[in-house]
Amino acid sequence: MTGRFHSTADGIPAEPGAYVLLVTLAEGVEVRLPGRAPVVLAAGRYLYCGSARGPGGLRARVGRHMRRDKAVRWHIDRLTLAGRVAGAWVFPGGDECALVAGLSSLPVPLPGFGSSDCHRCASHLLAWPEGVGLDLERWTGGAPPPPVPAVRTPPGCPPR
Ligand SMILES: [Zn+2]
Repeated sequence: MTGRFHSTADGIPAEPGAYVLLVTLAEGVEVRLPGRAPVVLAAGRYLYCGSARGPGGLRARVGRHMRRDKAVRWHIDRLTLAGRVAGAWVFPGGDECALVAGLSSLPVPLPGFGSSDCHRCASHLLAWPEGVGLDLERWTGGAPPPPVPAVRTPPGCPPR
């Protein structure tokens, strides 16, 4: 499985496959999964593994994640609307659960997130702490990870 990082949807192939979405949260976001107590995801970087099998394939799905004008339909929509999508690694023909397995060294912030239909993974959302390398580099042919924008200072905080 090989993939590439895209910071916009334009160059993403309109093929079926899987992706790892990079979302940054500038502040904590409360997420409530059905039947569970609400959990606050702390500010920071998150990786969400998903798949696109419908019309428009990866380009349409990742493009939807990057758009801000949408109704909340999936768990991940809460995060993409509250935070910022920095881009996505896309894997045409790839499998989302294999991507989760490859990132298994990362912490799971909220079990069940994005994996309601999945019986293999604890969660399709992983936290990506600062300073931690990604196994994704292995799948992208050793290409260096993309520059990840720093989590911006929340409004109201004076610049340092
Ligand atoms: Zn899974």
